[in-house]
Amino acid sequence: MRGPADPGPTGVAGGTAYRGRFAPSPTGPLHLGSLLAAVASYADARANRGIWLVRMEDLDRTREIPGAADLILRTLSAFGFEWDEGVIHQSRRTDAYRDALDTLKALELTYPCGCSRAEVARAGRSGPEGPLYPGTCRAGLAPGRRPRTERFRTPPGRLAFEDRIQGKQEQMVDEAVGDFVLRRADGIHAYQLAVVVDDARQGITQVVRGADLLLSTPRQILLQRALGLAQPGYAHVPLVLDTQGRKLSKSLAAAPVDARDPLPALRAAWTLLGQTPPPADLHIDAFWTWAIPAWRIARIPSRTSATCPA
Ligand code: GLU
Repeated sequence: MRGPADPGPTGVAGGTAYRGRFAPSPTGPLHLGSLLAAVASYADARANRGIWLVRMEDLDRTREIPGAADLILRTLSAFGFEWDEGVIHQSRRTDAYRDALDTLKALELTYPCGCSRAEVARAGRSGPEGPLYPGTCRAGLAPGRRPRTERFRTPPGRLAFEDRIQGKQEQMVDEAVGDFVLRRADGIHAYQLAVVVDDARQGITQVVRGADLLLSTPRQILLQRALGLAQPGYAHVPLVLDTQGRKLSKSLAAAPVDARDPLPALRAAWTLLGQTPPPADLHIDAFWTWAIPAWRIARIPSRTSATCPA
C-alpha cells in the first residue's frame, strides 16, 4: 500500500490535490517549443486527476504581439486543451505584485538600485544569464544617484531542489545570479516575482514548463520562502532547438503550430517528450482520451534540450 507521501504511478506524491498550469507569454503564436510545455503540463495534470489552468504572462506590454494572447487561447482550444478556471492575465495583477514587493521591502529583503544595464554590464563578471550585478547599491545609493530598479537581497548559500525530470538541482544563487531585479526601471514587476505570486494565488502544486527556466527556479524558491508561500513541485521539459541548435522561439523554424490540423504537431510534441507514439489512425477527438492514461513522466529524457525534427 502506498503512504500519503509516496509517489504514485505518475511520479507525484499523493495528499494534495494536483493543480497545474501553462503560462504562455503572448510574444507570438504557439510553436512546437511552447506546445511541448502545454502538452506536458496538461497530460501530467490530467494523469494525476488534477486541475489545469492557463495564465497569460503579458506583463511586458512592449514585447506583446497584438492578438497573440487570443490566438494562443484559440489554438489551445483547437488542440483539445480544456482549462478549468478563468484565464488570469498578469497585466491586470499589478496590485498583487506591488503588495508582495511591499512585504519584501518591510522585511528589508530588497533595496533600490541606481545602476543602468550598461553600468552593470561594465562593472559585473559574466554569469549564466548575462552580466552579474556586482552589488554596487547593496549598502545604499551613492549620493546623487536616483533609484531605478528594486533588487532582492540574495542570501548566500546553496539552494537545492529535486526536479521531477532533470533530477537534483543546486545553485549558489548569490554567486550565479546575485541580487536580482524585482521591479524594473520601467516600473514593470519582474517575471521572477510575478510568477511566484501567481503560482501561489492559483494554488499551483506542480509546475511543468520548459528547461529554459531551470536556472530561474532557485530564485523563485527564494522568493517563495521569503514571502512564506508554499513551494510547488517542479518538472522542466527539454527545450526544443532547431537543427542549428537555436531556441525555437528565437529562430525562423518557429513556425506556428497549425490550429486547423493539430495532430501532426501533437504527435511531434508527444514523441519529443519520449512518450509511446499514438496509434496511426487516431483522430484529434480521441487523442487526449488515449494520451492521458498513456502519459509517463519518467519517459521524458532528462536533457535540457531536444532537436526539432526537420
Ligand atoms: N511565460 C513563460 C514563457 O512563456 C513561462 C513561465 C513559466 O512557466 O513559469 O516562457
